[in-house]
Amino acid sequence: MKEHINRVAVIGTGAVGCSYAYSLINQGVVEELVLIDVNEAKAEGEAMDLNHGMPFAPSPIKVWSGSYEDCGAADVVVITAGLPQKPGETRLDLVAKNTKIFKQIVSSVMKSEFNGIFLVATNPVDILTYVTYKESGLPKERVIGSGTLLDSARLRFAIGQYLNVDTRNIHAAIIGEHGDTELPVWSCSSVGIEPLQTVLEKNKNVNKECLDDIFVKVRDAAYHIIERKGATYYGIGMSLVRITKAILNNENSILTVSSYLNDEYGHRDVYVGVPCIINRSGIREVIELQLDEKEKEKFDHSVNVLKDIIKSVQ
Ligand code: NAD
Repeated sequence: MKEHINRVAVIGTGAVGCSYAYSLINQGVVEELVLIDVNEAKAEGEAMDLNHGMPFAPSPIKVWSGSYEDCGAADVVVITAGLPQKPGETRLDLVAKNTKIFKQIVSSVMKSEFNGIFLVATNPVDILTYVTYKESGLPKERVIGSGTLLDSARLRFAIGQYLNVDTRNIHAAIIGEHGDTELPVWSCSSVGIEPLQTVLEKNKNVNKECLDDIFVKVRDAAYHIIERKGATYYGIGMSLVRITKAILNNENSILTVSSYLNDEYGHRDVYVGVPCIINRSGIREVIELQLDEKEKEKFDHSVNVLKDIIKSVQ
C-alpha cells in the first residue's frame, strides 16, 4: 500500500512563514514542505538555508521553493503572506490591504485543485480567515485561523510565571477577536485540575487585580514586542505548528483557533477565536463554553466588532 506523504505549503516566507517552517522541520512534522512567496528569490534562499540544516533534523523532509501548482497535493496550506503590522497600527488597520492580497492568493491556490485545509495567520486573522472561507468555497471546517491560540499561549505562560507552575499545567484561554477586543475566560481556567479561582483563594499574594494586569500585558504583547524588535514571529510560528500537528496526526486536540460560527454562542457567519476540537478533517467541533454574564457581554462585543469589519470588506 502506498504511504500517504504529508505535504504543507507555506505562502509568505517572511518572518512568520519562516519561523513556522523552521519549527516544523525541527519537530519533524511533515515529509514535504513547499515555500511560496511573491518574492521568489526570498523563498528560494529560505529553502536553501533550511535544507542545509537537514542533516540535523529529526526526520528527512523535502523542502523546496515552489509555485501555486504545488498546492494541489498539499494537505495543509498555511498563509502568512501579507503586510505586517506597523508600530502604532492596529491589526484591523491592515484589513483592506491584506484582503486584496488574499483574494488573489486563495484563488491561485484553488486553481491547483487544492482539497485540503487552509490555516491562516495573516492579520487581521479573523477577517482574513473569513475571506479565505468565502473565496475558496471549501467547507467551513477546513478553513481555520490561528485566532487567539498565540494570545492563549501568552496568557498560560504569564500565569505559569506568576504562580511558578509549569505553563503546560495552566489551562486558560483568550477568546474573541485576535486583537484589542479579545477577552480571557477566567471562569473556565484551571491550574492543573484545580479551578484558578480556588488557587487564588488559597494564595493570599495572588488576587483578581493581578490577573487583570496579566491580561492587559498579554492583550498588548504584540505592541510591546513590535516596539522592541519590529515584529513577532517565534510564538506564532510554534502556534501554527501545534495546529498543523493536531490536523496531520488526527489528534482531536482542543485548541483556541478562529472558527466559523454557525449559531454557536448565538452568532453566525463570522470567524472568531473559540476553543475547538481539531483533527484530520479540520475543525471537528466548536466547544461552547458556559461564559459568565460579563464574559458573554464582552464576547458579543468582540464578535460584533468583527461582523462590522466583515460588512465593510464585503
Ligand atoms: P513579513 O513582511 O516578514 O512577510 C510577509 C511575506 O509575505 C513577505 O515575504 C512578502 O514577500 C510576502 N507576500 C506579500 N504579498 C504576497 C503575495 N501576494 N503572495 C505571496 N507572498 C506575498 O511579515 P511577517 O512578520 O512574516 O508577518 C506576516 C503576517 O503575519 C502579518 O500580517 C502579521 O501581522 C501576521 N502575524 C500574525 C500573528 C497571529 O497571531 N495571527 C502573529 C504575528 C504576525
